[in-house]
Amino acid sequence: MENHLVEVEGLKKYFPIKEGVFSRTVGYVKAVDDVSFSIKKGEIFGLVGESGCGKTTVGRTLLSLLEPTEGLVKFEQETLYNTETGEKIKKSDLQKLRKEMQIIFQDPYASLDPRMNVGMIVSEGLRKHKLVKSKKEAVDKSKELLELCGLEGGNVHKYPHEFSGGQRQRIGIARALALEPKFLVADEPIAALDVSIQAQVLRLMSNLKDRLGLTYLFISHDLSVIRYFCDRVAVMYLGSFVEKASTKKLYHNPLHPYTKSLLSAAPKSDPAVKKKRKVIKGDVPSPADPPEGCKFHTRCTYAEEHCKKERPVLREVQPEHYVSCHFVEKINSL
Ligand code: SF4
Repeated sequence: MENHLVEVEGLKKYFPIKEGVFSRTVGYVKAVDDVSFSIKKGEIFGLVGESGCGKTTVGRTLLSLLEPTEGLVKFEQETLYNTETGEKIKKSDLQKLRKEMQIIFQDPYASLDPRMNVGMIVSEGLRKHKLVKSKKEAVDKSKELLELCGLEGGNVHKYPHEFSGGQRQRIGIARALALEPKFLVADEPIAALDVSIQAQVLRLMSNLKDRLGLTYLFISHDLSVIRYFCDRVAVMYLGSFVEKASTKKLYHNPLHPYTKSLLSAAPKSDPAVKKKRKVIKGDVPSPADPPEGCKFHTRCTYAEEHCKKERPVLREVQPEHYVSCHFVEKINSL
């Protein structure tokens, strides 16, 4: 669709489990298991779920850092992968496309090379793609990008260890913006930061989105951050979406038992507000051996015999509100 920047259909990413001296494949970790969604231009689409649910793998597959096992991935209506027809983007086209899609990493300490000064870090992509003609141009461009991200341009000669966590994340964002991308995957961008700094970085990302017309895939385990920042959200469990809706709908009227439990477990800002916690029983099963039928049945208080046998599909239960549960109408008296 024309106003959609990213389109994903039936995306699967399985990682082989190798064993023995001959490295024989003995199974697969189903990190992403049949996921479909699209992101409109200028939208912030959130992916939320417990760690290990496949959020990061979705982001990396969209950026073509990983090749999908199955499914269709389109960016600006151009097909990157379509396993059904065997289409795959050429390496040369992928290089060009990489400029349009960038990533902001979780850990601003680990993602910046300590041996490079900030100017070198920020201008790395520009130099690699030969978009600057001289060292001076690279330095000037780096200064401009740092200032865009709320840091002084004079910082170009400093090294990463001279900055705080929040400042390093601003450097990471400046680096991501250097090639003037249209789409950013922000993978837990504030998870490693102090709470006092988190809001500042989110505000910066929001301002940059408006100013530069960016589109985000925002990955987080933190429901309150997603609520504050995203337009639409998908809740992931063991590699699949269990619920997908606008942020407003999902937070005002969560319909899937897993989403309800996650929201009831999230801390409330007002301690006077008493709430009934719906504690999720048991541990998350292994993605190498997910349960048959509904993947959530081993932990769901509403599970019936049918849930153990048949996997529910993600279906539109209310306008633009998708849920994957056999008994969603009964549970919510719809
Ligand atoms: Fe629970 Fe069954 Fe719905 Fe799965 S399909 S969420 S087990 S009620």
